[in-house]
This record gives sequence, C-alpha cells and structure tokens, in this order.
Amino acid sequence: MSRNHTYGFLIDASRCIDCRACLVACSVENDVPMEHTRIWMKGTGVMGKFPDLQRYTAPYHCMHCLDPSCVSACTVGALQQNEDGIVTYDDKRCIGCRYCMYACPFEIPNFEWDQRLALIVKCDLCVNRLAEGGQPACAATCPTQAILFGKREEMLALAHARIEDAPHRYVNHVYGEFENGGTSTFYISPVSFEQMGMPITDETRSPAHFNRLVTHGTPAVAATVAVAMSGAYLAIKRQSADNAAAEQASDGRPDDHE
Ligand code: SF4
Ligand code: SF4
Ligand code: SF4
Repeated sequence: MSRNHTYGFLIDASRCIDCRACLVACSVENDVPMEHTRIWMKGTGVMGKFPDLQRYTAPYHCMHCLDPSCVSACTVGALQQNEDGIVTYDDKRCIGCRYCMYACPFEIPNFEWDQRLALIVKCDLCVNRLAEGGQPACAATCPTQAILFGKREEMLALAHARIEDAPHRYVNHVYGEFENGGTSTFYISPVSFEQMGMPITDETRSPAHFNRLVTHGTPAVAATVAVAMSGAYLAIKRQSADNAAAEQASDGRPDDHE
C-alpha cells in the first residue's frame, strides 16, 4: 500500500457550527438510528466570560490509522485495512470480544450495549459511496466545508497551509499527523486538542506491532482465544434466541418465521 494513494479527511474546528448535519447524514447513509451512528461531536463547551464567549466543536469518527491498532488486536479478521488504507468492519466475522475497543487509543469502536446481540459500530469511510465515485456522506453534507475529503497527502498539506496562512487562527498542531503512528484524519483547531476533548497521547508509534506479536505472531494463542470467544459468543447468541422465544411465548405473539 502506498500512503500517497490513501484517502484522508481534513476537519477544521474553526469552521464547524455544530449543526450536526454530518451526524444525520451518517445515520441516513448507514440506515441506523442516531444513537448508533458512526460519528459524534467533540467540543470545548462554552469558554470565556459574557459577552466574550467562545465555543468550538468538531465531528469525531474513526481516524483510519496508517497502522491500525484495532486491526492488529482483532483475532478473527473482523476488522481489516484495505489497499486504500480504509479500515473496514465485517459484522459476520465479529465474535463480540471487544479487543478492538481496548486497543484503539482514540476510543472509536463503539459497542451496541442496548442490543441483545451487540456488535461493534465503526465508521467505514463510506466505502460503498467511494466505490461509486462519491464522497463520504458526512463530508458531502457539511454546509460550511468543515469536513473536507480527498487524497491523504493533499489533506495534510492543506492543513499545514491553513495554519501557516493564519497562525493567529489556529494552534500549531495538525492532530492525526503523528498520533498513533499517523492517521488519515487530520484536525486543525483554534484551541488545543486537549480543550477540544480529544484523546491526547505522546505515543507517535502505533502499538499495532506489539499487538500483532500477541494475536497473530502466536497462532496457537490467537486460535485458542478465537475459539473460546466464538464459543462464548455462540452461547450468548443461543441464550438470546431462547430468551426471545420465551418472551414471545409469554406475550402470545406469533413467531415471525412461522
Ligand atoms: S455538518 Fe459541518 S458544520 Fe455541521 S456539525 Fe457537522 S462538521 Fe460541523
Ligand atoms: S481510530 Fe481506532 S478504530 Fe479507527 S483505525 Fe485507528 S485504531 Fe482502528
Ligand atoms: S465517512 Fe461515512 S460512515 Fe464514516 S462518519 Fe462519515 S458518513 Fe459516517
């Protein structure tokens, strides 16, 4: 994979007006309710003293890391990085172990805690829209161009150019350039990323290398974990089906499959 050909986002917190059209677009695109959408908001809250008040926000979704910790932590290949660098998720392979949630330094993979058979929720960069020549729904919908999408290297160059052209407007930091070994989503902001509520890490090398030694470098361990987790997951799946059948029987509702 050549990094020059991977996609990227540039998210500019100075342009975001917190309208949340990007969240709605993602919800519609993925046909999921808003509480299970793959994007949410980070922000400062209200700062300063009246009438000199300030507040900054920015949408937050998978960073599509260059060396993704989540992929290296997943023992069953439910998370994969394709040749464009996009990190995708296959719910048919997922065994619900949630290792990816612990591995991701950006706290991105979300678990459907309220679902009987819960799965992971994660941005796939609208890979189906890209295949048809489109833009990710969130970027295409933003009315202020706070979310830009293009080639990764172009987005990174634009981030630095905006800071250079208006140093009074931005802190001198492109978030995502080095975090976790580098990502495909870059942020620029008028205030520090700590104030924006973004995870702060001094780690500029992804722990994926070490994860791989554990999960993929020791096949026997990986296989044992996968088999154990698959067994547990299938047991939960069976229990969920039994519970559902019992509930339907007590409700007197007909079985949908009959
Ligand atoms: S659509 Fe654009 S302006 Fe509105 S919340 Fe999302 S990023 Fe901010
Ligand atoms: S941000 Fe987290 S979920 Fe997304 S690719 Fe990186 S490690 Fe994986
Ligand atoms: S790229 Fe697509 S899946 Fe990812 S946050 Fe944007 S709209 Fe949602």
